[in-house]
Amino acid sequence: MTITRRTLAGALGAAAGAALLDRRIGRAAALAAVHRGMPDDAIVLSYNENPYGPSAGALQAARRADGVSNRYPDALEDEARAALAKLHLVTPDRITLGCGSSEILQMADAAFTGPGKKAVAAEPTFEAVLDYARVLSAEPVKIPLTADFRHDLPRMAQACDGATGLVYVCNPNNPTGTIMTGDEIASFVASVPASVTILVDEAYHHFVEDPRYRTACDLIDRHPNVVVARTFSKIYGMAGWRLGYAVGSKEKIASMAKFATFSNANAVVLSAAMASLEDRDLVPRARKTLNDTRRWLVAEMVKQGRRTIPSETNFVMIDVGGDVTPVIAAFRGRKILVGRKFPSLPNWLRITIGKPEEVAAFAAALKEIVPGKTAAA
Ligand code: PLP
Repeated sequence: MTITRRTLAGALGAAAGAALLDRRIGRAAALAAVHRGMPDDAIVLSYNENPYGPSAGALQAARRADGVSNRYPDALEDEARAALAKLHLVTPDRITLGCGSSEILQMADAAFTGPGKKAVAAEPTFEAVLDYARVLSAEPVKIPLTADFRHDLPRMAQACDGATGLVYVCNPNNPTGTIMTGDEIASFVASVPASVTILVDEAYHHFVEDPRYRTACDLIDRHPNVVVARTFSKIYGMAGWRLGYAVGSKEKIASMAKFATFSNANAVVLSAAMASLEDRDLVPRARKTLNDTRRWLVAEMVKQGRRTIPSETNFVMIDVGGDVTPVIAAFRGRKILVGRKFPSLPNWLRITIGKPEEVAAFAAALKEIVPGKTAAA
């Protein structure tokens, strides 16, 4: 399907288009702050969102989708699946789309868990998989992280028995930002019974720089019980537009797709997503910008005498030396939204990497709210 070539930048001129884009992103940030009970000029560093929003190319493509907005997006869904299949070197029947990767996780629970089945995951990790499993009357099994805040894969493999429908590996892990290496994931996959579906959530895949990390997509051909979830919400800056997808064997994808809502991906996000995939610079550019800001923050925390968990993502955990609840409240008082609290890591505050000035404001406020060791020395 060809979409009309009229572009926002073309119509308004590149500079005016960029200014409009800035205003829109600013307005979206203000709305998000107000929705979360904060004033519209609050700094929001709490949801692992990308502060820069979709790329200019993605926004232009979204405008072009105006021309097909009155039609159901089936053809665009096919195009997007084909584009993703090309990216992952698989056939389109090995990709399914979701309204965010949250829907992908829900579809996996619906397909592979249920009454009498177990769902195994780390603690703490992104909760959605176990939350949905509970709704489906499956039994959630939580395996604590190791002392270095990583998945305890040997214990997770041991927990997988004949009643286990799904094991969830979040790599990199939310909320710790830690990774499991390619070798660790490969030996885990080899040790889990083939009857168990292994869902590897790679929502933060694009931020990883550690060369020991590898995508689990590489394992699917040899281990058809592996399914990988990805999202356009993080590095692509499209959390509000909602698009995720899964890569898996033809059989696993067909089992999951049965539980998808009809037309679960809209024309605007599909158009924007395809433009994003075509933009070869988008991922390296966003990765460098956000990872550089994270490195700056971590260096600041070291100067303040604080511990951080080594992160390969657009967020980082900081040890505040006591319960984070009053610390989060104190930040709210300063119009900075941080956190939330993860009960099994009660002293660790999760900060999403925002723009440099937002992160600098956070670092300065933290010094006052919880004086660090070197700051006091
Ligand atoms: N997976 C992980 C690890 C996440 O952290 C998130 C959101 O923060 C999601 C999935 C869901 O993201 P979305 O539904 O926006 O794709």
